[in-house]
Amino acid sequence: MDYLPVFLRLEAESALVVGGGHVAARKVDWLLKAGARVTVVAPQLSPALTTRADRAELAHIAQPFAPAHLTGAAVVVAASDDREVNAAVSEAARALAIPVNVVDSPELSSFIFPAIIDRSPIVVAVSSAGESPVLARRVREQIEALLPARLGALARFLGRRRALVQRVLRPGARRLFWERLITGPAAAEALGGNEAAAQRSFANELRGAQSESSNATSGSGLGEVWLIGAGPGDPDLLTLRALQVLQQADVILYDRLVPEAILERARRDAQRVFVGKETGDHAQQTRINELMVGLARAGKRVARLKGGDSYVFGRGGEEIEVLAAAGIPYRVVPGITAALGAAAGADIPLTHRRLAHSVTLVSGHAALDDSLDWRALARSHQTVVFYMGVAQLPRIVARLRAAGARGDLPVAIVERATLPAQRVLRAPLASVAALAAREQVAAPALLIVGEVTALATAAGLAPAIGAVA
Ligand code: SAH
Repeated sequence: MDYLPVFLRLEAESALVVGGGHVAARKVDWLLKAGARVTVVAPQLSPALTTRADRAELAHIAQPFAPAHLTGAAVVVAASDDREVNAAVSEAARALAIPVNVVDSPELSSFIFPAIIDRSPIVVAVSSAGESPVLARRVREQIEALLPARLGALARFLGRRRALVQRVLRPGARRLFWERLITGPAAAEALGGNEAAAQRSFANELRGAQSESSNATSGSGLGEVWLIGAGPGDPDLLTLRALQVLQQADVILYDRLVPEAILERARRDAQRVFVGKETGDHAQQTRINELMVGLARAGKRVARLKGGDSYVFGRGGEEIEVLAAAGIPYRVVPGITAALGAAAGADIPLTHRRLAHSVTLVSGHAALDDSLDWRALARSHQTVVFYMGVAQLPRIVARLRAAGARGDLPVAIVERATLPAQRVLRAPLASVAALAAREQVAAPALLIVGEVTALATAAGLAPAIGAVA
């Protein structure tokens, strides 16, 4: 790290700005926002600075810079267009150990101005240590897009209630309370500008937290479990809420389908527990259930992170039954299910006005028993997506054919959808199993059946391996 980021308190402190042009004016704006008493040393002032001087928002010394001007200054900014003047300011300030910034000259500066997002009292500062201010500004824009517009109002709302929460909740319960609060209804209402509703929800949540912590048997109170859908694999396809709760989790229980790139977005010091299981391993599911309940009872915030969406072949339904029976609070954060990831990744619209009026998500395991209505799945004008179907592929094809599906019906296999190694194979139904065997398709992969799978190739898009098999 080339610079230590710190926030400087300048309220009522003296700040000296050397230079009277528009670059100086921008620095003056920030210094005034921070509450500094600004003095500008420059023979002449730009119109903007003249207006501020006329309104007595700043003091103007209409002289060339002299080291004596530094007396009493807490910070100095050199923003003149004369390199020698700027160098002289830098030298004089450093001799007196006054922090100095020379605009566009990191080598003459002891501090630099970051790119700033101001949602006071929340302030975000981004710096590239002078290497690329344009890149720093781009990063600022990306962060800015993530932050609610009324974030500052929320921070003030919470700040006004800190002392009260401090009085009524024990330290262990406090952090849990605040973390729940900022993702709950009170925060949503404060962000929406409805302070009265926010206050009502806040009072409710505080009452709840008080009775919870007086009932809790363990010292740290009851934790909670979030069932989080991690999406099909590309970390950029996490929802904003999944990112927010991953930042708060104490423990993360994650599956085989969750890549490292997604775990990297979680809280740094969260404990990670791999609970991936081979399909149909009931003992492992029991262990997962016990872990979730045990950790939550010990006061932990547990993120149960699953590929895709928890409620699409993710056993989320079974897990919430267990949590509800154990009296553990839980919340569910939806994720992009593999079928939607594959559709976008392989240019396969799942429905289409001409070609498909419905889409069905089917578990490939079900091909092993007789629970599916194969005649319904074999009809035209629909799309059928088989999950977990790689091992069952020949059997699925045989069942569909037997139920009346055409041998030349277009199908696609999408392997590792949305991941860097994504592969798309297109073929007629009759030959897809042979193609998959030849190409050694491996899990995770989806089989998508229906006319829509030929659409992208018809439109000249998305070349696919084995389009003619
Ligand atoms: N809950 C998950 C599905 C879990 S079942 C979801 O909503 O997506 C596991 C199956 O999902 C895999 O066998 C595979 O068929 C499918 N799958 C998950 N991620 C995938 C990916 N990135 N590409 C292709 N198929 C995927």
